Amino acid sequence: MSTPTAPDIAAIVRQVIAEITTGQPAAAARPAIAANAHGIFGSVNDAVAAAQTAFEQLEGLGVEGRRRAIAQIRRIAIEDAEELGGMEFAETKIGRLDHKIEKLKVLGEKVPGVEFMTSEVFSGDHGLAVIEHAPFGVIAAITPVTHSLPTIACNAINMIASGNTVVVNPHPSGRKVAAEGVRRFNAAIHRDLGIDNLISLVAEPTLESAAELFNHRGVKLICVTGGPAVARAALQSSRRAIVAGPGNPPVVVDATADLDRAARSIIQGAAYDNNLLCIGEKQVFVVDAVFDAMMAAMERAGALRLSAGQVDTLTDRAIVWTGEGSHRHQVPCKDLLGKDASLLARAAGATGHEGLELVFGETDLDNPFVPVEQMMPFLPFVRCRDVDQAIQRAHESEHGFRHTAIIHSSDVRAMTRMGRLLDTTLFVKNGPSVAGLGLGGEGYLSFSIATPTGEGVTTPLTFTRQRRCTLVDDLRILGSPAVA
Ligand code: NAD
Repeated sequence: MSTPTAPDIAAIVRQVIAEITTGQPAAAARPAIAANAHGIFGSVNDAVAAAQTAFEQLEGLGVEGRRRAIAQIRRIAIEDAEELGGMEFAETKIGRLDHKIEKLKVLGEKVPGVEFMTSEVFSGDHGLAVIEHAPFGVIAAITPVTHSLPTIACNAINMIASGNTVVVNPHPSGRKVAAEGVRRFNAAIHRDLGIDNLISLVAEPTLESAAELFNHRGVKLICVTGGPAVARAALQSSRRAIVAGPGNPPVVVDATADLDRAARSIIQGAAYDNNLLCIGEKQVFVVDAVFDAMMAAMERAGALRLSAGQVDTLTDRAIVWTGEGSHRHQVPCKDLLGKDASLLARAAGATGHEGLELVFGETDLDNPFVPVEQMMPFLPFVRCRDVDQAIQRAHESEHGFRHTAIIHSSDVRAMTRMGRLLDTTLFVKNGPSVAGLGLGGEGYLSFSIATPTGEGVTTPLTFTRQRRCTLVDDLRILGSPAVA
């Protein structure tokens, strides 16, 4: 493992920043992002070895050491949010700058840390049993392009809180900001605690390096956040995996809904980071009795309605075919994914305006925007006979991912029927999807929502093994002393 000197590291970081700001790819002579620049490694082997050493060092620092390490990640996520959010936006070229910045600030404040590390006790006639939550060791994390650094920071806070260390194979299109964030986190932790590489990162990530990480003997647990291909790969791995997989969240609006509130909520959730969030509203089923009124409410709330012809034009531009044979399916086209609503409006032949957040239009059930996770700020609205038809269609459009669903209604029976049928991890009533992550609703935040494997919104406890410690017949101090 080579260890570059301080000037090497500074030069590399300058180069990464220059690449990001100019948009120009690195010169051919560019070294791999850096070997061992505070967590940045050229090979999976080196990254795992460093993470193992860091794990052993972290064990010696107790819960207070974990808390301090996490405090550095939180501080940098908040203090450097504008710079790092700007880098992420410039590198990935998707989403919205204001939300890239906000995601970093919010995670710094709201992702759970060591305070979630509780133990359970059974106290009875035969003494005590204490269930404690132990770390696994080195965890492999795969992260998406939609929130490259936020997912890494959020995973790291959760995983370090429970005493683990992590090796990240980031999405290749978000790897530079990932490396810069990881370098800053590790450097700050090193200055404070003298430990480096609590977060290690594969500098030039590929599908091969992901596979190598999945199968590495030093890796004890896998955590992936991404779409169908990586979710499948992790589920097929021989290691235990926590899988935060894809979603396609449907919305139902019934005749009892507060339509203006529903419209504001749908815009807030679906426009967030240009609809890149896996929980973001992706298609809307509205009962016929209030369909026209709901479309008017969306316009009042600031969204731009497209005509039928404009919806057709946008559909042809925005959704494309990929794959061969039985794998052939429709996906969002790359040049509109995560782009601004005004660009989508132009692509549809309409005129957007400064500050436009969302475009929408009436579609048939068979329009590809309904089944495809479009990840762009256009929403199809489908007219339904009644609330039960809307719920049924919502169910079909969610594909059984069991990720997120939303309803706007004041009919608790309709809410209950929808909750039971869709069986999703997050079910939001009368608010934006983001309320399901504690943003305007109750609860805590994570950018990894484990769906097929069932852990839900991840916390430090997600990344732990249970250990039981039993003391027979003593230390239950309740009751009277036994009479001789
Ligand atoms: P993506 O699936 O293209 O990539 C995600 C990561 O997986 C990347 O690092 C990629 O390099 C890697 N990857 C892809 N195929 C792989 C394979 N066969 N083996 C190993 N690694 C592989 O997804 P994306 O475009 O980066 O992110 C958007 C997707 O992620 C959406 O489907 C969204 O719903 C989902 N997502 C889910 C959550 C959640 O918490 N459940 C959070 C964010 C994003």
